[in-house]
Amino acid sequence: MEYDLKKGTRGSRHDHIERLIAKIVGAEGAMVVNNNASAVLLCLAALAKGKEVIVSRGELVEIGGSFRIPEIMELGGAYLREVGTTNKTKYDDYRNAIDMEKTGILLKVHTSNYKIMGFTADVGLQELVELGRDSGIPVVYDLGSGLMIDLRKYGIDEPTVPESIRSGADIVTFSGDKLLGGPQAGIIIGRKQYVDLMKKHPLARAVRVDKMTLAALEYTFRQYLDEEKAKETLPVLCMITLSPEEMRKRAILLAEQVRRATDAFEIEVVKSEGQIGGGSTPNQFLPGYAVSVSGKGISPDRIERDMRAYEEAVIVRINQDRVLIDMRTVAQDEIDIVARGLIACGERYSKG
Ligand SMILES: *Cc1c(COP(=O)(O)O)cnc(C)c1O
Repeated sequence: MEYDLKKGTRGSRHDHIERLIAKIVGAEGAMVVNNNASAVLLCLAALAKGKEVIVSRGELVEIGGSFRIPEIMELGGAYLREVGTTNKTKYDDYRNAIDMEKTGILLKVHTSNYKIMGFTADVGLQELVELGRDSGIPVVYDLGSGLMIDLRKYGIDEPTVPESIRSGADIVTFSGDKLLGGPQAGIIIGRKQYVDLMKKHPLARAVRVDKMTLAALEYTFRQYLDEEKAKETLPVLCMITLSPEEMRKRAILLAEQVRRATDAFEIEVVKSEGQIGGGSTPNQFLPGYAVSVSGKGISPDRIERDMRAYEEAVIVRINQDRVLIDMRTVAQDEIDIVARGLIACGERYSKG
């Protein structure tokens, strides 16, 4: 239990970390819930119950198999008011759909896991914010990934949390365990008046997080007080920002170690392209290096299986009949582990 020694009352760990988050992202208020799906749900229930929520037809996403915008809308007791078309949605589509009696929210959803290409148009967050201001309707942005620092120079073109707040969105929601690099959680930030409505909503208790999650989230956010430090201490950022040169060095170390110990494989250091989030950032490839392994008379599938079953499991990729070990996800102190796994497999294959 938390106890506030000054006031002589029960303190709230929630209040403490939520103040910290608000300060770091540059928002008036913040709230932590169980995941981003519950963040969006709570937002709809608290701000748009019985009202219409205007969303572009190009943004009716399904993410993670069960988060679907039309379904979450129903659960939150709001009515989906689709505007525009799959490929093009314009400012006037939103404007014409606004009804001062019925409209509860203008919702923008970041299409985290797909891209529409060709003849497309959408309305940027900033433009939507202007429309919201003019009509007095709150703008909510479901950002999804929770990227805190600009990674465009590393080849990741994703909007960030601070820039979304700076665009003027009234509420922004995102996950704790995607590009933020923290525990499973949903984070709601934005105008205090709206965040307070969500905190008071009966659903709030049902989507609360425990103090272990809060502690992990506090640690994660504190890393962002120094961006350079965050890139070193948070694994997801560390992997994304790892330079191709460093990957090549690690690849050479691994290849040499295995070659010295066994001749069961043909081993090469090769250029590779990685994708973050298991393909959830379409069209975004990070250049780097991998170690390519092929067994003499042993199938890549067998090597893949044996590496996965090794006491310190190693997950590899298969590409064009060769096993690829992408060095982006092999930390300096993990090179030995991967080498031991390959050497153990090699010894087994040599014995037949
Ligand atoms: C991932 C994602 C969600 C769901 O978030 P969870 O934390 O997995 O519940 C919702 N909206 C968007 C845009 C997302 O990218």
